[in-house]
Amino acid sequence: MAADLILALDQGTTSSRAIAFGRDGRPVATAQQPFEQRFPQPAHVTHDPEALWSSQLAVAREVVAAVGGPERVAAIGITNQRETTVVWDRATGAPVADAIVWQSRITAARCEALRASGLEPLFRERTGLTLDAYFSGPKIAHILDAAPGLRERAEGGELAFGTVDTFLLWRLTGGHVHATDPSNASRTLLFDIRRLAWDDELLGHVGVPRPVLPDIRPTSGILGETRPELFGRAIPIAALAGDQQAATFGQVAFAPGEVKNTYGTGAFLLLNSGTRPVASEHGLLSTVLWQLAPGAPASYALEGSVFMAGAAVQWLRDGLRAIATAPDVEALAASVEDTGGVYLVPAFTGLGAPHWDPYARGTLIGLTRGTGLPEIARATLESIAYQVTDVVEAMVADGAPRPTALRVDGGAAANDLLMQLQADVLDVPVERPAVLETTALGAAYLAGLAIGFWRDQAELGATWALDRRFEPAMAASRRERLLDGWHRAVERSKGWARPE
Ligand code: ADP
Repeated sequence: MAADLILALDQGTTSSRAIAFGRDGRPVATAQQPFEQRFPQPAHVTHDPEALWSSQLAVAREVVAAVGGPERVAAIGITNQRETTVVWDRATGAPVADAIVWQSRITAARCEALRASGLEPLFRERTGLTLDAYFSGPKIAHILDAAPGLRERAEGGELAFGTVDTFLLWRLTGGHVHATDPSNASRTLLFDIRRLAWDDELLGHVGVPRPVLPDIRPTSGILGETRPELFGRAIPIAALAGDQQAATFGQVAFAPGEVKNTYGTGAFLLLNSGTRPVASEHGLLSTVLWQLAPGAPASYALEGSVFMAGAAVQWLRDGLRAIATAPDVEALAASVEDTGGVYLVPAFTGLGAPHWDPYARGTLIGLTRGTGLPEIARATLESIAYQVTDVVEAMVADGAPRPTALRVDGGAAANDLLMQLQADVLDVPVERPAVLETTALGAAYLAGLAIGFWRDQAELGATWALDRRFEPAMAASRRERLLDGWHRAVERSKGWARPE
């Protein structure tokens, strides 16, 4: 049997997915498994690393079986929820603690202390990031300080750190390869995004011992092979990429100025800024998109990270029990013409870009006796569109041209009402591709390029196909009124949980 497929492993925040793609960039087989979200205390979120591994392995095996066996898989590409931090024992491979998830605010005080020491400009300049609890470095320090002896063991080289790409790579290769790529490393606050190397000065400030860190390898390139017993054959692993960068690649946003937005648990808007990082003055991040070969220049993005997008819909489902499944939100929200002046600011774990307030909390405001679940459902969808609009406006304020179209993907991009609301409040057409799984597709593309499965980026560009385009249709006066209400609601959500 010829190896005619690339297998993408997409380890997301709420589920592990595996998708096999053919040469035409279309999915051939898919499997998905959710896993437990742990909330040990308010605004702290963890995952069991063993659950990440076992769910990811199970879906990968399911897809390999579905396509008829491992001989059909030419290579594996890994993409992952970013920033989520795992520390494990190099000798046994066993995690020393639960993974701290990107959404967790557990390190807010650590970040505040670094800021109080006047270090924000240094971190900003060197890493492109703000000193926020979002990023991995302080999460590593938190894990090492949470139990006696761990820090000493880390300094002695007994422990390994990885974002989820690195942890999966380690497990898939039986502990032979401890590596990450610049797209993931650039989310740690420990990585110099120009030199593409770990930075000892930053490591010292954050309190992370150098021996825990993985090697840096290109985003696209052969890293090693899977242990033969996992799939019945050793399969090359040929890409590692953070999920948002992978989605940007899957949307074939290869040219400077191209923009994509992913509506998953959070919403992540990335603008390709070319081969030089752009410093933001409006609350955006500067981050590595990818490095396609050893020694090659990296591509960079200006990024707006919104923490709660689809997760706000999950709250409607699980917290309020207003809907049975996430897609049900569309009919409920569409049952009313407007929210009647109600706004939801879904700052359940603080606010990310462009506000960066870890102490903001969820705010439901403008309630009247006429407010019911339909208005709240609609306000929830609107909040997603408003947050993305704020990020685009920040990019424009940073000097980026206003996008001529917004390419979208992610689970919540299936929601037509949300996509129309987005086109309306942003006043920019929204383009939804035929393949919504662009994160997995991007990982497959990156792996396939590394082994010559696809020739070049031009060949990939030809595979992108439109599903539907949503044209803006809202009167300017209404848009301005809605955005004004939204911004007043955001102001009221800020600082709510500030420690006394
Ligand atoms: P992730 O990769 O972050 O786990 P996905 O891209 O799988 O996320 O998207 C899942 C998210 O999208 C969930 O938060 C879910 O609530 C939301 N979602 C899924 N379908 C819809 C829908 N039709 N309308 C609105 N939100 C949805």
